[in-house]
Amino acid sequence: MFRIGLGFDSHPFEEEKDKPLLLGGVKIDFPKGLKGHSDGDVLLHAITDAILGALGEPDIGQLFPPSEEQWKNASSELFLKEAIRRMEMANYKILNLDCVIICDRPKIAPYKEKIIRSLANLLKVHPWQVSIKGKTREGFCSEEGIAVFCNVLLQKIQPKDV
Ligand code: MG
Repeated sequence: MFRIGLGFDSHPFEEEKDKPLLLGGVKIDFPKGLKGHSDGDVLLHAITDAILGALGEPDIGQLFPPSEEQWKNASSELFLKEAIRRMEMANYKILNLDCVIICDRPKIAPYKEKIIRSLANLLKVHPWQVSIKGKTREGFCSEEGIAVFCNVLLQKIQPKDV
Protein backbone atom coordinates (compact mmCIF):
# COMPACT_ATOMS: atom_id res chain seq x y z
CA MET A 1 0.00 0.00 0.00
CA PHE A 2 1.22 3.47 -0.93
CA ARG A 3 0.41 6.88 0.50
CA ILE A 4 1.45 10.20 -1.04
CA GLY A 5 1.89 13.45 0.90
CA LEU A 6 2.07 17.07 -0.23
CA GLY A 7 3.96 19.65 1.83
CA PHE A 8 4.11 23.42 1.47
CA ASP A 9 5.67 26.15 3.60
CA SER A 10 6.92 29.70 3.20
CA HIS A 11 8.82 32.04 5.50
CA PRO A 12 9.89 35.67 5.06
CA PHE A 13 13.49 36.68 5.66
CA GLU A 14 14.30 37.80 9.19
CA GLU A 15 15.20 41.47 9.69
CA GLU A 16 17.59 40.72 12.56
CA LYS A 17 21.12 40.17 11.35
CA ASP A 18 22.39 37.16 13.28
CA LYS A 19 19.78 34.47 12.55
CA PRO A 20 21.43 31.76 10.40
CA LEU A 21 19.71 30.54 7.22
CA LEU A 22 19.00 26.80 7.45
CA LEU A 23 17.65 24.70 4.58
CA GLY A 24 17.23 20.98 5.14
CA GLY A 25 19.44 21.20 8.23
CA VAL A 26 22.29 22.80 6.22
CA LYS A 27 23.61 26.24 7.12
CA ILE A 28 23.57 28.43 4.01
CA ASP A 29 26.05 31.29 3.63
CA PHE A 30 23.58 34.17 3.28
CA PRO A 31 23.16 37.47 5.18
CA LYS A 32 19.55 36.77 6.28
CA GLY A 33 17.89 33.87 8.08
CA LEU A 34 14.18 33.09 7.93
CA LYS A 35 11.62 34.50 10.32
CA GLY A 36 9.76 31.92 12.37
CA HIS A 37 8.98 30.75 15.88
CA SER A 38 11.42 27.85 15.47
CA ASP A 39 14.74 27.97 13.59
CA GLY A 40 12.74 28.76 10.40
CA ASP A 41 13.94 25.79 8.33
CA VAL A 42 11.24 26.08 5.68
CA LEU A 43 12.39 22.94 3.82
CA LEU A 44 12.20 20.71 6.92
CA HIS A 45 8.76 22.16 7.76
CA ALA A 46 7.38 21.31 4.30
CA ILE A 47 8.84 17.78 4.43
CA THR A 48 7.46 17.24 7.95
CA ASP A 49 4.00 18.27 6.77
CA ALA A 50 4.22 16.05 3.67
CA ILE A 51 5.01 12.98 5.79
CA LEU A 52 2.31 13.82 8.36
CA GLY A 53 -0.17 14.45 5.53
CA ALA A 54 0.63 11.13 3.84
CA LEU A 55 -0.11 9.39 7.15
CA GLY A 56 -3.32 11.34 7.79
CA GLU A 57 -1.77 12.66 11.02
CA PRO A 58 -2.29 16.18 12.46
CA ASP A 59 -0.20 18.83 10.67
CA ILE A 60 2.95 20.54 11.95
CA GLY A 61 1.02 23.55 13.26
CA GLN A 62 -1.26 21.30 15.31
CA LEU A 63 1.58 19.22 16.75
CA PHE A 64 3.95 22.12 17.41
CA PRO A 65 1.82 25.28 17.82
CA PRO A 66 3.81 28.52 17.32
CA SER A 67 1.90 29.87 20.34
CA GLU A 68 3.78 27.44 22.61
CA GLU A 69 6.93 28.84 24.18
CA GLN A 70 8.67 25.44 24.20
CA TRP A 71 9.03 25.53 20.38
CA LYS A 72 10.64 28.98 20.33
CA ASN A 73 13.94 28.73 18.39
CA ALA A 74 13.47 24.92 18.38
CA SER A 75 15.48 22.90 15.88
CA SER A 76 13.14 21.89 13.05
CA GLU A 77 14.88 18.51 13.05
CA LEU A 78 12.78 17.77 16.16
CA PHE A 79 9.58 18.24 14.14
CA LEU A 80 10.82 16.00 11.34
CA LYS A 81 11.94 13.33 13.79
CA GLU A 82 8.45 13.24 15.32
CA ALA A 83 6.92 12.80 11.83
CA ILE A 84 9.37 9.94 11.14
CA ARG A 85 8.55 8.36 14.51
CA ARG A 86 4.84 8.42 13.62
CA MET A 87 5.61 7.01 10.16
CA GLU A 88 7.60 4.13 11.66
CA MET A 89 4.89 3.47 14.25
CA ALA A 90 2.40 3.17 11.37
CA ASN A 91 4.78 0.75 9.58
CA TYR A 92 5.57 2.93 6.59
CA LYS A 93 8.86 3.76 4.90
CA ILE A 94 9.85 6.53 2.50
CA LEU A 95 10.17 5.54 -1.16
CA ASN A 96 11.11 8.97 -2.43
CA LEU A 97 10.94 12.68 -1.71
CA ASP A 98 10.89 15.46 -4.31
CA CYS A 99 11.21 19.12 -3.27
CA VAL A 100 11.05 22.48 -5.06
CA ILE A 101 12.67 25.42 -3.26
CA ILE A 102 11.37 28.71 -4.67
CA CYS A 103 13.62 31.73 -4.20
CA ASP A 104 15.73 34.11 -6.23
CA ARG A 105 18.39 34.24 -3.52
CA PRO A 106 20.30 32.38 -2.24
CA LYS A 107 21.21 30.15 -5.17
CA ILE A 108 20.41 26.54 -4.26
CA ALA A 109 22.63 24.75 -6.81
CA PRO A 110 25.93 25.10 -4.85
CA TYR A 111 24.26 23.48 -1.80
CA LYS A 112 22.21 20.85 -3.60
CA GLU A 113 24.36 17.80 -2.85
CA LYS A 114 24.97 18.86 0.74
CA ILE A 115 21.23 19.37 1.39
CA ILE A 116 20.39 16.01 -0.23
CA ARG A 117 22.94 14.25 1.99
CA SER A 118 21.58 16.02 5.09
CA LEU A 119 17.98 15.08 4.23
CA ALA A 120 18.90 11.46 3.42
CA ASN A 121 20.63 11.25 6.80
CA LEU A 122 17.67 12.75 8.69
CA LEU A 123 15.13 10.60 6.82
CA LYS A 124 17.25 7.42 7.05
CA VAL A 125 17.12 6.83 3.27
CA HIS A 126 19.66 6.76 0.42
CA PRO A 127 20.52 10.07 -1.28
CA TRP A 128 19.06 8.72 -4.56
CA GLN A 129 15.64 8.67 -2.86
CA VAL A 130 15.82 12.45 -2.32
CA SER A 131 15.52 15.18 -4.95
CA ILE A 132 15.68 18.92 -4.45
CA LYS A 133 15.72 21.71 -6.99
CA GLY A 134 15.91 25.46 -6.73
CA LYS A 135 13.57 27.53 -8.88
CA THR A 136 13.55 31.30 -9.25
CA ARG A 137 10.20 33.04 -8.66
CA GLU A 138 9.55 34.35 -12.17
CA GLY A 139 7.02 36.75 -10.66
CA PHE A 140 5.41 34.23 -8.30
CA CYS A 141 5.29 35.06 -4.55
CA SER A 142 7.50 37.52 -2.68
CA GLU A 143 11.22 37.99 -3.25
CA GLU A 144 11.64 38.58 0.48
CA GLY A 145 11.48 34.99 1.58
CA ILE A 146 11.60 31.33 0.56
CA ALA A 147 8.76 28.94 -0.32
CA VAL A 148 8.93 25.16 -0.64
CA PHE A 149 6.68 22.53 -2.18
CA CYS A 150 7.40 18.84 -1.77
CA ASN A 151 5.90 15.42 -2.40
CA VAL A 152 6.72 12.30 -0.46
CA LEU A 153 5.71 8.74 -1.32
CA LEU A 154 5.39 6.22 1.50
CA GLN A 155 5.07 2.46 1.25
CA LYS A 156 3.68 0.10 3.86
CA ILE A 157 6.42 -2.18 5.18
CA GLN A 158 5.56 -5.80 4.47
CA PRO A 159 6.57 -8.47 7.02
CA LYS A 160 9.03 -9.91 4.49
CA ASP A 161 10.86 -6.50 4.29
CA VAL A 162 11.68 -6.49 8.01
MG1 MG B 1 7.15 26.90 8.79
